Amino acid sequence: MSCHVVIVGGGFAGLNAAKRLKKADVEITLIDRTNYHLFQPLLYQVATGGVSPADIASPIRYVLRRQKNVKVVQDVVREIRDSEVVTDSGTIGFDVLIVATGATHHYFGNNEWAEYAPGLKTLPDATAIRARVLGAFEEAERTGSEDLTFVIVGGGPTGVEMAGAIAEMARHTLRSDFRDIDPAAAHVLLVEAGPRLLPSFPEDLSRKAEVQLIDLGARVLTGWRVTAIEERRVVVAKGAEEQVLYPQATVWAAGVKASILGKSLQLLGATLDRSGRVEVNPDLTLPGWPNIYVAGDLAAVSHDGKPVPGVAPAAIQMGKYVADVIQGKEGGPFRYRDKGSLATIGRSAGVADFGRARFSGFIAWAAWLGVHIFFLIGFENRLLVMIQWAWNYVTRNRSARLVMRHEQTEEKD
Ligand SMILES: Cc1cc2nc3c(=O)[nH]c(=O)nc-3n(C[C@H](O)[C@H](O)[C@H](O)COP(=O)(O)OP(=O)(O)OC[C@H]3O[C@@H](n4cnc5c(N)ncnc54)[C@H](O)[C@@H]3O)c2cc1C
Repeated sequence: MSCHVVIVGGGFAGLNAAKRLKKADVEITLIDRTNYHLFQPLLYQVATGGVSPADIASPIRYVLRRQKNVKVVQDVVREIRDSEVVTDSGTIGFDVLIVATGATHHYFGNNEWAEYAPGLKTLPDATAIRARVLGAFEEAERTGSEDLTFVIVGGGPTGVEMAGAIAEMARHTLRSDFRDIDPAAAHVLLVEAGPRLLPSFPEDLSRKAEVQLIDLGARVLTGWRVTAIEERRVVVAKGAEEQVLYPQATVWAAGVKASILGKSLQLLGATLDRSGRVEVNPDLTLPGWPNIYVAGDLAAVSHDGKPVPGVAPAAIQMGKYVADVIQGKEGGPFRYRDKGSLATIGRSAGVADFGRARFSGFIAWAAWLGVHIFFLIGFENRLLVMIQWAWNYVTRNRSARLVMRHEQTEEKD
């Protein structure tokens, strides 16, 4: 009987591990709580109406339809034991296990903020944020309120991208759509506790990102720490100074922590770091468990003395590496090949850091566009997103500007 490999998580790491095992003499069961693979780097585009949910997600079953050694199961894994995983519908035994369940939002002990400042990690998060942002403009038109404010907490790539896209939407896309309000008068505030935006980028690019955001009409508050978030109220502090902001919508982009499933591995002796990531051996196995691998955002591993970052290329490389180790094609430790970082700001600005080559402005934006579309999982998605983007670029439109609230129901007789 061939070896049974169970992969938990169909994200960048899990899906790439499964694909790399295509020719291996193994039976694979891939379990994910959703039935789709999600291209998270473009979630902010869904949250701001640039593309539709289906453009950045593909059914996992469809992606793997030609790979006969994989069975896809939609289920939630709750617990990991020494030779089986426990799901909502039962247990599934394994010979080899790959755990790749990614990360989730981190409110640094203030979980009550989540209700008023949702984070951006899943498609439902993105459509909920889209409803809040667009809903704020609708409310202003209804009430005639002049004071429209959006607060984005966290000046990393997601925060910068969200602030840029909302500012762009307010200044350009919505310009002619309303009668009683001027959308361009909306305030977009990006709050970052640290001294600069994009702390993982070189300082000169951080400065350029800030200038590009200001050019789009956003306000950047660096060095300001959020101390309270309530319904339409955000308090920020810098030393003894305090400001109270009254936003119609707040977005949380300030922190991530590893998936909760990592905790289950503690029962097998795993140690978690401060972000809840599982400390693994250099070959990504769980210490003491040569048949259990942890990959992607959930794994805490270093390369060349530096922690491997929680980014998509690292997750993809880990997934492929683990598959190679399982097939005996790889013997050495995991090595991360850093291909650079990109962030976009609005319609045609951005920053790109490829080590010695650094760009900002239109070239960075074009590089970002190329890389992100190239990596979109299905060919159809690539084509759709490219066409939609070209159209949006020319017309400054954002065609997926739908407000869909869960509580909205059809009127009954
Ligand atoms: C808004 C946003 C923007 C980003 N932008 C960029 C960017 O521009 N560039 C970049 O390189 N990286 C970016 N990232 C980070 C990148 O998306 C992650 O590093 C990458 O997705 C990690 O891959 P993964 O396979 O570890 O986890 P994920 O891709 O998160 O996949 C985890 C999978 O596990 C499933 N899962 C979770 N828990 C369970 C469970 N208990 N049972 C079953 N299934 C489960 C999930 O449904 C999911 O499909 C961004 C992330 C976000 C949220």
